[in-house]
Order: sequence, then structure tokens, then C-alpha cells
Amino acid sequence: MALTAVKGFNDILPEESGRWQHIEQTARRVFELNGFGEIRVPVLEKTELFSRSIGDGTDIVEKEMYTFTDKGENNVTLRPEGTAGVMRAFIEHKLYALDPVSKLYYMGPMFRYERPQKGRYRQFHQIGAEITGVNDPLADAQLLNMLTAFFREIGLDEPTLQINSLGCPECRPAYRSTLRSFLEARIDQLCDDCKRRFVSNPLRTLDCKAQGCIEATAGAPSVLDHLCSGCDSHFSSVRRYLDLSGTPYSINARMVRGLDYYTRTTFEMVTGLLGSQSAVAAGGRYDGLISQLGGPSIPGIGFAMGLERIALLLGAKEFSSQPDLFIATMGAGERDVAFCLMDGLLKSGVRVEMDYEGKSLKSQMRRADKLNARYSVVIGENEVASGRAAFKRMADGLQIDAALTVDAIAPLVRKTV
Ligand code: ATP
Ligand code: MG
Repeated sequence: MALTAVKGFNDILPEESGRWQHIEQTARRVFELNGFGEIRVPVLEKTELFSRSIGDGTDIVEKEMYTFTDKGENNVTLRPEGTAGVMRAFIEHKLYALDPVSKLYYMGPMFRYERPQKGRYRQFHQIGAEITGVNDPLADAQLLNMLTAFFREIGLDEPTLQINSLGCPECRPAYRSTLRSFLEARIDQLCDDCKRRFVSNPLRTLDCKAQGCIEATAGAPSVLDHLCSGCDSHFSSVRRYLDLSGTPYSINARMVRGLDYYTRTTFEMVTGLLGSQSAVAAGGRYDGLISQLGGPSIPGIGFAMGLERIALLLGAKEFSSQPDLFIATMGAGERDVAFCLMDGLLKSGVRVEMDYEGKSLKSQMRRADKLNARYSVVIGENEVASGRAAFKRMADGLQIDAALTVDAIAPLVRKTV
């Protein structure tokens, strides 16, 4: 039997990877413009890193992690998200000692044992960014502006930004017990997961998709009415900076995050186009995380976005690059000339394709069409003798006569915009 990939693990084929590269390159450009540097961390970490940071009562740690014991009896896990590993590295290499403010970004595969469906896989890919060392709401606003700029630059007007504040260890416990009292009277309406969360993490009931939970929590007290004065003024400032920069957003007081380490500002980029997989990017402040992992008390804020979902939103848009020129030959005698021309053009950065196998002229032209070449040229005995040929612009059939030299051809066929 033929071997196939593991369920929930996908191949990204060349026809799709153009779209992925467009996403990755745009992220690099926008993030580096904002002063972020790339950090690359391992995909495998000690399990304890994730249980200590993401939290034992979360879906990720409770049921989604790829955890195993390796041959040396070490308990290890394929990373389910990026922030924990980045912060582990941040502490381990004392990056805070080099600069009180650090701005880092990462991209790569993440692993969660989830039920595979459209927009949800077991190996998926995230691009994320983190700012550490800044309490000021300016950092929140810059990060949100950068995220907004990223989506604008890749050419999507969906998704839209939603923000919320989850308070801090000072005010959240009181809100949690207020919410718990509210839910107590409605506990029979909650789904089984939320009955359990009622004890461990009652805030999660607010974003549960089950109908009973949506109804039960309809009039629930809002976290925004229970912020301490520090959290309240932080959130007002974030909104003010967003207003000052003209960044569109809405407030979603029911947004909670599935990871325990979040404090204060939380946010999502949400789309209506992907069914229940509505969040394409998500993040927030994690002011307690670094110290929780054994580092100094340094605040942080960051986000991660899912490449698969962004690629789905980009849909059928064409991003694979087309050849500048396809060289066809009349016969075997011209293949040396064609090959040397192709070689010279490739060396000067022109994307060229030619027929490798001496096919008929008709089938060569079919291939030029299939590859969507911008120009084609046919080289026969006459062209070799005169050293000139007609270059055909495939879009409209315009023929342009030019010498068969790299210097003459390159500026003609190379895309200038
Ligand atoms: P969801 O509510 O959709 O499960 P999440 O809260 O688990 O999302 P995060 O941990 O915040 O997601 O991850 C950030 C982003 O990573 C998500 O917005 C999404 O785009 C993407 N993502 C998360 N899990 C998956 C997955 N299993 N497959 C594909 N993309 C994913
Ligand atoms: Mg999830």
C-alpha cells in the first residue's frame, strides 16, 4: 500500500506555496520596518514549559499536546504555540540584559492534536511577534497597528480587529467570582465542557460556541465593568492611541483567550468568511509570564496568526511567479544556442524556461501557455544565422524584434513593476 501523510499534517505544494511566501515576505517586511528581529527556536521543548506557561486547565494542555517520552526518558512536547519557547529563549539567553525593550518575531510549524477540518490541522503554521519590556499602552497600540498594517499589505480588508481587556491578578479574581455566581443559577444550560470550566476557568464559557452556553451567558456581567483603575486606564489609553492613528477596531467584552498567561489587553483579528474558524490572529499582554517561567519581572505583549487561515482568505489569488520568457526551438540544431541563452539570462536574473526534450513546436508552445510565460521566442536556423528573433508578448501577441543576446533580451522581457 502506498504511504500517505499522517492525518492532519499537510503538504504545501508549489501551486500554493506562492501564497505562503507572499504572506511570510509581507510579515518580514512589515515587522522589520517596525524594528522586530527574527528569533528561531526549536519545535521540541520540555513538556513542563507548556504546562507552566499555557496553564494546566487549558484545552491545549489538557487535550491537544503532542507529548511523548524520548529514548532518554525525557518528557517532551512538540510546541503547540510560539510564545512559550520564545520567552524560554529570552530568559535563557538573558536578552533583557542587552536591551530593556526587545521586539522579536518568529514563524514556523506548531502542533496540536485537534480534530482536523477546514482551517484546523494538527500541524499548522504561525507567524508571531512579541514586545517585551514595555508596560506603556503605546506598545499595545504599535503592535495592533502593525498587525493591521500587515493585513492591509497582503491585500485583505477582512479580517477586522476586536479588542478587550482581561484585567490583571488584582481585579480578575473578583470578576471571576462575580461571573461564577452569575453562572451558578444557569449551570444546567451549560455544555459539559463548560460545566467543568465553571470551576477551573469560568471565563471560557463566554466564548463557547454551544447554543446553551451562548444563551446562558447572554446577560453575563462584563469584564470591562470590573477592571481595577490601573487596567481601566491602560485600556482607555490603548483605545485612545488606536483612535489617534485611525486604526479601526471594535470592543468585544466576551473575548477570552484559551491560554492562561494573558493579562489586560487581548485582541483577535476576526473574519466572517471561515465559518467557526473565525480568528486568523490572536494575542494579548502577558505581564506575568516571564517571571512565571523563572525570568525577571518583565511585561510582554504579542500575537500569533495562522498561516493556513490567511492563505484560505487569500483564496484563489494568483501568487506563483510566472516565467519571463519561454524559449522554443525548431530543431535539435538550435538547442545549444537556446541552452546558452537560457543559462546567460538565468545568471542575470531573468526567469527563463525552455523545452528540455525536443518536443514538437506545438507542444512547446502549449507548455509556454501552461507556465503562463510573459514572452516566448522560437529559435530556428534563420534566427541562429541572423542573431535576431521575434519575441512574442503572450498577453496580446505583440511581436518585438531583438538580438539574441542577454543584454538585448533581459530589459525587454523582465518584469519592471
Ligand atoms: P481557535 O479558537 O480557532 O481554536 P485558538 O484560540 O486555539 O484558536 P491561538 O492559540 O490563539 O488559537 O492561535 C492563534 C492562531 O493560530 C489562530 O487564530 C488560528 O489562526 C491559528 N490556529 C490555532 N490552532 C490552529 C489549528 N489547529 N490549525 C490551523 N490554525 C490554527
Ligand atoms: Mg484552539
